[in-house]
Amino acid sequence: MKWTKLMIQTLRDNPGDAEIDSHKLLVRASLVKKLAGGLYSFMPLGMRSLRKVEQIIREEMDRAGAQEIQLPLLQQAELWKTSGRWESMGPGMFRLKDRAQRDYALTPTAEEEVTELIKSVVSSYRQLPVTVYQIHTKFRDEIRPRFGLMRSKEFLMKDAYSFDVSMEEADKSYMAMFNAYKRVFERCGLKAYPVEADTGDIGGKFSHEFHVLADAGEDGIGVCETCKYAANLEKAERKVLPRNDESCGAIEEVATPNAKTIEEISAFLGEKPSKFVKTLVYVADGKPVMCCVPGDYEVNEIKLKHLLDAKTLEMAPQSIVEDVTGAVVGFAGPVGAKVPVYADQALEGAKGVIVGGNKTDTHLKNVDLARDTKIEKFADLVIVKDGDICPKCGKPMTIKRGIEVGHVFKLGTKYSNAFNAVYKTDDLKEQVMVMGCYGIGVSRTVQAVIEQSHDKDGIIWPASVAPYQVIIENLDPKVPEVTKIVDELEQQLESSQIDTLVDDREERPGVKFKDADLIGFPVRVVVGAKGLANGGVEVKRRADTKDKMVIVAPEKAIDTIKELLK
Ligand code: ATP
Ligand code: MG
Repeated sequence: MKWTKLMIQTLRDNPGDAEIDSHKLLVRASLVKKLAGGLYSFMPLGMRSLRKVEQIIREEMDRAGAQEIQLPLLQQAELWKTSGRWESMGPGMFRLKDRAQRDYALTPTAEEEVTELIKSVVSSYRQLPVTVYQIHTKFRDEIRPRFGLMRSKEFLMKDAYSFDVSMEEADKSYMAMFNAYKRVFERCGLKAYPVEADTGDIGGKFSHEFHVLADAGEDGIGVCETCKYAANLEKAERKVLPRNDESCGAIEEVATPNAKTIEEISAFLGEKPSKFVKTLVYVADGKPVMCCVPGDYEVNEIKLKHLLDAKTLEMAPQSIVEDVTGAVVGFAGPVGAKVPVYADQALEGAKGVIVGGNKTDTHLKNVDLARDTKIEKFADLVIVKDGDICPKCGKPMTIKRGIEVGHVFKLGTKYSNAFNAVYKTDDLKEQVMVMGCYGIGVSRTVQAVIEQSHDKDGIIWPASVAPYQVIIENLDPKVPEVTKIVDELEQQLESSQIDTLVDDREERPGVKFKDADLIGFPVRVVVGAKGLANGGVEVKRRADTKDKMVIVAPEKAIDTIKELLK
């Protein structure tokens, strides 16, 4: 392919709204173009990388025995009402009506649709297991679309769904997808780590996210370098050592005018944040509760929601806090609480701590939780921090940032129950199918590759997903001998299935090299009259420094290129 025949519009300046490198490079290298917030068009170069990632996924899904299907993007509301998610998806789902005023959703995911489909096809255990997948658009009305393709309103997802006769069989389907995911990301040149994850609204028992570690990642992950335990911060646990606090005297009220946050009060009283108990008021399924955590930790609302087995959990609004505590916001505490109090496990046995006084501008010192409060339950209720102890091996953990590129869930029977998706066993009993669901953000993966592999000059594509594997720089397009060699080389490469772009523009070499580095083709070949007179063509990998460049005779170039692409 010739550069001049391709729609490429590289940019020198970073787009104004781009905060992270991969977003800047996506746009500058002319892979995508923004149409509106969270909406991107793929340009020809970006399309090629997207298709390559897609193809790798397709091959690995097929190899794992999954069957490709395609479901409608427009889904009737009834499906979502059956599962109860017409309500629980909230404003994250795009909704619309047809001319007869019937409600629809633009697919954010497809558990409902696929369960309805499989239910209508499978009736006997003989037809199971089955795993289906599609590579198709998804729509989500994200609160904050940003970072280019990382979090857009419309994106390409591979979603797969498995159906099995039993929980044990479903584990096998889960593992098949888990292993396929590892291969997918490896083949894309990505280092992606499986991380234990919460199952969220979707329900189910077992779940891993695949994360690409990057400072630009939106998710926090607790990682133990020693035993390789890795869990999303929503889920990550820590080991808590028993405390041996000394007993304390009677409770003492202290005036703490306007000191509401732990920072303010700890500065005011000159005590470390860990000496305090932070108390927050939540409303769980409409009822207020208090949650206490050590002053130097944050509440993990997901853990709290699970503990309470609540459908909804929100921070209490000011009016409820005032009602529950009898004070303005900032002075809640567990002593004399009017609502149930739940506390983090690290507070079990806490004595001599400082808590909010349930009275404006007041805190209480010398509190012994066992003596002075009634705690419904101690449980793991915090977000883990750097240095917390690994729950598996006891060594310190670190907190890293990650980009979630894929997610595998064991769903259980949540959807098959709702849709009555049953099969007949060999003795003709009806049983519900056991499901799993598995997603890969295809467009997000393209950008994650860039985030993980770039330098100050541009992208460094792994050969497997590069828009073109080789760029041939024709420095003298007007010189017939040069162009002849370029064209021959292009043909040889193409017939060896190495996709090649020829930069046939009449531009200064500097401009052409800059563009090649920006787009990041894995191998660059430079052909010019001067070079040929001096013995050949220049070949260099994008990832290598200039001193690694080799000069080879034109007829030898193809072997060198193949070698470098390995
Ligand atoms: P996130 O936590 O990042 O919002 P999610 O957990 O809601 O993602 P899933 O429902 O697990 O996402 O979707 C499967 C995959 O789709 C994710 O692993 C991610 O790679 C991708 N994905 C999800 N939302 C978006 C989005 N708004 N833009 C691009 N890709 C997305
Ligand atoms: Mg997810």
